[in-house]
Amino acid sequence: MSMMVLSGGTGTPKLLWGLKELLAPDELTVVVNTAEDVWVSGGLVCPDIDTVLYLFSDRLDTSRWWGVRNDTFSTADALRGLGMEEPLRIGDIDRATHLARAKMLGEGLTLTQATLELCHAMGVQERVLPMCDEPVSTMLETSEGRMHFQQFWVVRKGEPDVLSVSHEGLEGAHLTREVGEALRENEWVVIGPSNPITSIRPILGVGGMRRYLSRKRVLAISPIIGGRAVSGPAEKLMRACGLEPSSLGVSQLYEDFLDLFIIDHRDDVHPSQFAVDTVRADTLMSSKHKSISLATRVLELMEEVG
Ligand code: GDP
Repeated sequence: MSMMVLSGGTGTPKLLWGLKELLAPDELTVVVNTAEDVWVSGGLVCPDIDTVLYLFSDRLDTSRWWGVRNDTFSTADALRGLGMEEPLRIGDIDRATHLARAKMLGEGLTLTQATLELCHAMGVQERVLPMCDEPVSTMLETSEGRMHFQQFWVVRKGEPDVLSVSHEGLEGAHLTREVGEALRENEWVVIGPSNPITSIRPILGVGGMRRYLSRKRVLAISPIIGGRAVSGPAEKLMRACGLEPSSLGVSQLYEDFLDLFIIDHRDDVHPSQFAVDTVRADTLMSSKHKSISLATRVLELMEEVG
């Protein structure tokens, strides 16, 4: 069964960990959030794309869900020694990806072309596509002023109060030819359990995406378990966007196109309270085995819907 998956950099990659064991590579197209991308020391860090690339090339550090397993930090340490400490802790192998991407963009490739080149170089056969080619940045209005999401989360450890969230550059972003083709080719779109505000909302905001999705079969998985986000600032940011920080709040963001919603057994809310068809499952992917179980359930549900 082929599908398109919308992904951020932690919750959905955990689902992809399972799906990649069950599907052929050409059955998986992943459209990835780029609104957390940031330039560091001449390299373009695309945190969510990098995680998906490392996952598919079997190099991801799955204890942190970012970076390459057993990477070293010699360059980061040397830069610090020169008084040029970076805002993100970047491994040496990881940095090579960022520099290669920057070089390709400098030579005139689009981010989509550069990502497909990186897939090829890393032996990734699944199709990994950025949500768009234009730069987009998630910006927060906080109690400490306006800042990029990475500044809020990595440097300020998610501490400031958040008043509002916007995605700079998103109004001018277009669906790429490659994402358009993937939308035409796949009947099913899966929205993994990623942060609805920082990871999924930017993808949905790329011109025409919501309209396309309303013509597709869409299954989404809630990133909220037992009323709390498993990791990351989803609750704080949902509140800042006027959404209840719960599975119900997540479903409201997807309501206009969603066909099936999966919530966790531990969520204290009955499926009948949702405006869309909702089923329960164990969605906590704390091991590869559990990722495969949830991915299996996703495929079963798709077959049942037909
Ligand atoms: P980011 O780009 O690193 O912020 O990652 P994502 O947006 O892809 O994922 C962050 C979201 O994943 C958080 O809101 C978590 O609640 C959710 N998440 C992480 N692990 C799990 C899991 O095992 N199960 C579920 N249901 N959600 C998860």
